[in-house]
Amino acid sequence: MAPAILESLLGRNERAVCRICQSETGIMIRPCACAGTMADIHENCLNEWVSRSKAEKCEICKESYAQAKRFRPIREWTKPEITFRLCLMVASYICAYLSILNILSICAERKFFDRVFVRGYPPRGADWVRIVIAAILLIMDSCIFSILFDKIVGYFARQRVLRFIDNPNQSAK
Ligand SMILES: [Zn+2]
Ligand SMILES: [Zn+2]
Repeated sequence: MAPAILESLLGRNERAVCRICQSETGIMIRPCACAGTMADIHENCLNEWVSRSKAEKCEICKESYAQAKRFRPIREWTKPEITFRLCLMVASYICAYLSILNILSICAERKFFDRVFVRGYPPRGADWVRIVIAAILLIMDSCIFSILFDKIVGYFARQRVLRFIDNPNQSAK
């Protein structure tokens, strides 16, 4: 264990040189299993190399370059697409939600719960209509919510890009 720590410390103390552009400045990653002076690479240099050579593996150690999905910086995020249909959906969602609240408040006002659940009386005719309307609205609102939720999740997913990262095996060594 001790020599491994020493080795990794020595490795990190060596001046990092990008194996593509030979520069010693900038933040570098160690995306494959290569060690020592061959390990460090600028992410941009690797991007360029991979797009030009179409090689997904390191030709020296034959290991795939480690990648992970990362969020882009906020200023590079795409603007959310606000369409008329989306506005309509949000408006319907809010309207249906308020209507459900309104129906429930009327039921509570008329001591609906007390009458039906405590005393066990059957609901009055008008209550049945309200319950059915509330149920329909609830189903409709759940549908709208699930579509909106998918849209929001999809939007955030589009703000993520595949980035090269340090090979997890590098730090395990
Ligand atoms: Zn470089
Ligand atoms: Zn390698």
